[in-house]
Amino acid sequence: MLELLLEKRRKRLRRYKWFRRGQSLVFLLVFLLMFLSSPKLIDTEIMGSIETPEGVSAEIGEVLPQDKLPSGQAGSGKEPEAQAVEPQEPSSAADDCEFPEKFAPENDGIEREVKIAYLTFDDGPTHYLTDILQILAESEVPATFFMLEPSMSAHADVLSRMAEEGHAFGLHGVTHKRKQFYASQESVLGEMNTAQAKLQEITGIKTVLIRTPYGSKPYMTPAYREAVGAAGYKLWDWNVDSKDWFYRDERLVSHTLKQIEVLEKKKVTPVILLHERKETVQFLPQILAYLQSKNYVLKVPDAETEPVQFK
Ligand SMILES: [Zn+2]
Repeated sequence: MLELLLEKRRKRLRRYKWFRRGQSLVFLLVFLLMFLSSPKLIDTEIMGSIETPEGVSAEIGEVLPQDKLPSGQAGSGKEPEAQAVEPQEPSSAADDCEFPEKFAPENDGIEREVKIAYLTFDDGPTHYLTDILQILAESEVPATFFMLEPSMSAHADVLSRMAEEGHAFGLHGVTHKRKQFYASQESVLGEMNTAQAKLQEITGIKTVLIRTPYGSKPYMTPAYREAVGAAGYKLWDWNVDSKDWFYRDERLVSHTLKQIEVLEKKKVTPVILLHERKETVQFLPQILAYLQSKNYVLKVPDAETEPVQFK
């Protein structure tokens, strides 16, 4: 009996052992399944993270032209268009936003291309002309000189080389006396024609640019304007008055720069009035440095340039 009981117990123990072994095997299988399935999960996550940026780039690809290279070219192709459009629109939304102005290098390019300024010197030639020409040559910029006839004869040698240096000639008359110059349309036209003849004699150049003494307003009547227009002249006033005949110090510069800043905000091309004077020679480099720091391109007007006139 005892042996039977012991035998049963052994069998039970063996069954139990098998049960335990089976249990361990199941655990092992479950563990293996988990282990095998976990890399799959990781893989899926990686795939997912890879797919996301691909999806984004695909979206960009849909917005831009299909191929990457042409899309880049098309993107850069848009910028010159924007550059061409911007100067024609006085107030674009992009100009109100300082951020892209400061951080987009393309915008620097825009400013360099479109901002034009005209430097004009009246009442010459004087013995300050060579100093002015030297300063302009150092900065490699041209200017326009509205000159008086008697002075032209006195500085004929300087005049003959000014055109070669890229400067433009304009006429300012002969007497520079208000009553005499503006006496009639004949006096206005006569003084300009006399100055023209002298300029042509010295330089061989005929100009269409004129500026009347003290500006066109209020002295140039409609009849006077018509007369000079019919003679082929283009009347130029200015929109920046340096008042270099009045200021004898740095105020000449600050006064001028303030006006340029106001015009810049309005997208108006500055036409700067200066005179051939000692103070102008002294402070001209500061004005030029400012204009260059603001990416202005200095030009001279020609027959096609729309003149600035007082209204
Ligand atoms: Zn003058």
